[in-house]
Amino acid sequence: MEGDRRTSPPTQSLLPDGHLVLWTLCSVLLPVFITFWCSLQRSRRQLHRRDIFRKSKHGWRDTDLFSHPTYCCVCAQHILQGAFCDCCGLRVDEGCLKRADKRFPCKEIMLKNDSRAADAMPHHWIRGNVPLCSYCVVCKQQCGSQPKLCDYRCIWCQKTVHDECMKSSLKNEKCDFGEFKNLIIPPGYLTSINQMRKTKKTDYEALASKFGKQWTPLIILANSRSGTNMGEGLLGEFRILLNPVQVFDVTKTPPIKALQLCTLLPYRSVRVLVCGGDGTVGWVLDAVDEMKIKGQEKYIPQVAVLPLGTGNDLSNTLGWGTGYAGEIPVAQVLRNVMEADGIKLDRWKVQVTNKGYYNLRKPKEFTMNNYFSIGPDALMALNFHAHREKAPSLFSSRILNKVCGIK
Ligand SMILES: [Zn+2]
Ligand SMILES: [Zn+2]
Ligand SMILES: [Zn+2]
Ligand SMILES: [Zn+2]
Repeated sequence: MEGDRRTSPPTQSLLPDGHLVLWTLCSVLLPVFITFWCSLQRSRRQLHRRDIFRKSKHGWRDTDLFSHPTYCCVCAQHILQGAFCDCCGLRVDEGCLKRADKRFPCKEIMLKNDSRAADAMPHHWIRGNVPLCSYCVVCKQQCGSQPKLCDYRCIWCQKTVHDECMKSSLKNEKCDFGEFKNLIIPPGYLTSINQMRKTKKTDYEALASKFGKQWTPLIILANSRSGTNMGEGLLGEFRILLNPVQVFDVTKTPPIKALQLCTLLPYRSVRVLVCGGDGTVGWVLDAVDEMKIKGQEKYIPQVAVLPLGTGNDLSNTLGWGTGYAGEIPVAQVLRNVMEADGIKLDRWKVQVTNKGYYNLRKPKEFTMNNYFSIGPDALMALNFHAHREKAPSLFSSRILNKVCGIK
């Protein structure tokens, strides 16, 4: 009897135990399933977005948080995250991306319509998200100050105008390319060059004379890996202010290829702005030397530097500063380049040969920039260089490198 009593409780507790197992399984598996399903949906959305990015003529980039109050260019809603085009500046939320892509054209780097004259191009207005502190070209009052999608900006000349001040005459007005017209390569110019190349004409001087002697087109060669990836953001800012065709990422297009654009521009007119450290500047200067060897001496550009890397000794000596971390706006950098005077840099090709009896080793060739620097700067650079040579892996961060330099 006693034995029967002892065996009965387990049969009664089987059911609650089963429930417990079921509930435990549910509480463990359900969150796992939900997380898995969410990540599947997210990756599917990402794939879809990347597909649109790849096919699009805009230079779309994702962002988790816009730095300024932003409104979607399609649905006009206030948005915190979404995508922006780093050529024309359109901003959109994820849901409206496809519609924005179809509805709005991006900056035309070359005119499609050949009948238009090379120097006559109307403004290209886009609505909303005009920069803070911009002023209307018509009434001279502040623009874009209302918390909604309002007012227009021309993506070439950067002029802004109120919704109510926008007239049809302004819509058809010729764009003068604004403040940086002397640095921008107009799309019409490239269309004319293209037509001339078809007829095998290479006298671009007459064509360029329309833009005047002060036209010194600028080519941007930025290293997107320099300055803890600051180069990436800078590339976008330059594309917004200039023609995207004149902005290159040297990690994707090597300087020697990018500099071939100089051969389509008037002789001795081009300026190049190198955004990177001494290494990138050296790379570009080597490419300039190569142009000389190729017999393209008359196309050689003047080189300016925006120091982004760690070693910016050459840039400092040339008067471009020791490092750029966004202290001045990109527009001011362009103004500095416009106002800069050119100087000649003493460059040497050094050949090291083995003088031994059995001269089997190939002679080594180096390029040397000869400049003079004295005082604590030079000492610091020398000490830093010596330390980096000993342990290169310890000097991969720019901020850390600066701290070591101060020490
Ligand atoms: Zn939207
Ligand atoms: Zn665009
Ligand atoms: Zn314009
Ligand atoms: Zn106005």
